[in-house]
Amino acid sequence: MTDVLLIQLPIPRLNYGRRTGNIPLAAACLKQAADELVGVRVDVLAESVASFAGDAALLGLISERRPDIVGFTAFSWNIERILYLSQRLKNAFGPRIVVGGPEVTPDNALLRSEHLDFLVYGDGEKVFVRLLEDEAFWSRLHAAEEASDHFRTSRSPYLSGGLEPQIENIMLLETQRGCPHRCAFCYYNKSHRGLVFAERDRVLEAVQWACDQGIGELFLLDPSLNTRPDLPDLLEGIRRINSDRRVSIFSETRAEGIEAGLAKRFAAAGFGGFEIGLQTTHPPALKAMRRSMDVDRFLKGTRLLKANGIGIALDLIMGLPEETPASFRRSVDFVADNDLGEDVQLFPLALLPGTEFRQRHSELGLVYDPHPPYTIQRTPGFGQTEFLGALDYAENRLDTAFFPPPNLDIAWHFGVPDPGKAPADITVRLGGATYLNKMLLFEKRPPEELLESADRLTLPYQIFIGPRLKDRAYVGGVLETVTAANPFCPLEIVLIDPPASLAGMNLLDHVRLKRPHFLDGDLRFSFARPGNRAVLTTVVSCIAAPRYQDDMQRQVFWWVSDALPERADLEDLFDLDGVLLDAPASMGRLHRWQDRMAPRAADLPYISFAHIGLQKRWLALTAAEDYANGIMEYRPGNP
Ligand code: SF4
Repeated sequence: MTDVLLIQLPIPRLNYGRRTGNIPLAAACLKQAADELVGVRVDVLAESVASFAGDAALLGLISERRPDIVGFTAFSWNIERILYLSQRLKNAFGPRIVVGGPEVTPDNALLRSEHLDFLVYGDGEKVFVRLLEDEAFWSRLHAAEEASDHFRTSRSPYLSGGLEPQIENIMLLETQRGCPHRCAFCYYNKSHRGLVFAERDRVLEAVQWACDQGIGELFLLDPSLNTRPDLPDLLEGIRRINSDRRVSIFSETRAEGIEAGLAKRFAAAGFGGFEIGLQTTHPPALKAMRRSMDVDRFLKGTRLLKANGIGIALDLIMGLPEETPASFRRSVDFVADNDLGEDVQLFPLALLPGTEFRQRHSELGLVYDPHPPYTIQRTPGFGQTEFLGALDYAENRLDTAFFPPPNLDIAWHFGVPDPGKAPADITVRLGGATYLNKMLLFEKRPPEELLESADRLTLPYQIFIGPRLKDRAYVGGVLETVTAANPFCPLEIVLIDPPASLAGMNLLDHVRLKRPHFLDGDLRFSFARPGNRAVLTTVVSCIAAPRYQDDMQRQVFWWVSDALPERADLEDLFDLDGVLLDAPASMGRLHRWQDRMAPRAADLPYISFAHIGLQKRWLALTAAEDYANGIMEYRPGNP
């Protein structure tokens, strides 16, 4: 029996439990393609575990199972972590490693690794099956074979129970592969020579399944839904199934292709929104990226969608070739002046492997970070100052924050802790196993216990350091141990009422994360100064004067008074990064306080509760749509 384990690793985040969108759809498609093979067992690592287990925990779990083949789906946000895990797995028990996904392109130098056995370019199904059937095929080291026939007739892998839609209450459905457009920043058009559409009945049976299962949101993964030749017919079929609009459907489209009749059909079928790539309105920049724009038709299309109650999420790119700060501002003005700024995503240009912009970067004068996510650093029109100025302009004009800070979420106990006793760590259950989410370091622990804890950490995790722990060397040693075992896991260090010796300590000197970390590049525009963006440090103290605030550092007021704060009390603390409510009041009073304050939370300083149950309730009241289901079942104790 050949045992295969397929894994998709998430975008790293600084807050535990936030929705990741890390749905292993590609892996589930491969599993389905190999279903009929005899003598083969293919499993997809559960989304909950793949998304929230730390590096050491993942290594332990995979090594315990010892599959013959480990397959990874590679994106810019996980490729370096994949390379690290592959090396460790090879050394541990020597499985074959196969990698596919958007990051796997012939020109990606990162993939020249002795630890990867096979690279799959584009569609995976046929190549995967050949690898499982034909031993000699491995010697080719890489392959590209479109799986159009298979894709056209395949059922969604959700229908065979291979995925966990309940975690985010969303379902992804591929209805098309390939793209008719040739945008120079995108690789998707190169991964498939032509267009192939999933059969109408296959799409409709998946929509029916989504309705039957009570899925909240269905995302049709078409890069441009309006290119589908039988679209009116398909929409009529969806309308019949989803007539009560119980499932909200989302997709991507070109606004220029929307006519009045089509907009009505989308609405009747239950479409809740479209992502529309505007990118820029500047004609030379549009030409450079091989896109066109008809302003009148674009505006007509967006107005028709909105008039039919369909939301619009617009994408803009900052730092395109031929773009200048003035032309970028005109694009932002176009969005604001035409009332399209409700939901805008602003992406700094990324020079992804395999794309035309990457290949022509010297000629175009584009300087980019060679590490994922390959963010643009300089263009003929933009340097660091211009980028930050453009970001400020867009945030002010559109009244939004494109790179908001992480949530304040520093709960650490289930009730008033006994001052004489060190509080227990906080764990979570993922995929039937227990993982350590919050390490509570209130007194020294033996090194072997720390090593065991490091092997069970989640991604991300928190280390709370209590007020009585004063030994800098010890604290430094703990950080070295846990981060060396988890070099790709972002973390938050929470210092509770720290003595001066710890508050002044350079904790980063002891952190052994892989640098640059993906977040160092991804959050480049959150913190202008180069440096750490994967380790957050938060000081909790009863001192209201700001002393400890810098990039990736927060100072939070520790509210321990029985009298709960009123709005004015909270507003007096706006100079700090938030308030940790740890008041010894009854649950009933605290619930009433939360219910009263939650509707105004956006106008208050950031608030967290020290009590885990209260913090969960607060997040449900103020940020429910940001968090995944079933991931935050916290318990005290050891993993
Ligand atoms: S950006 Fe979208 S429209 Fe352009 S090539 Fe890529 S998938 Fe197609």
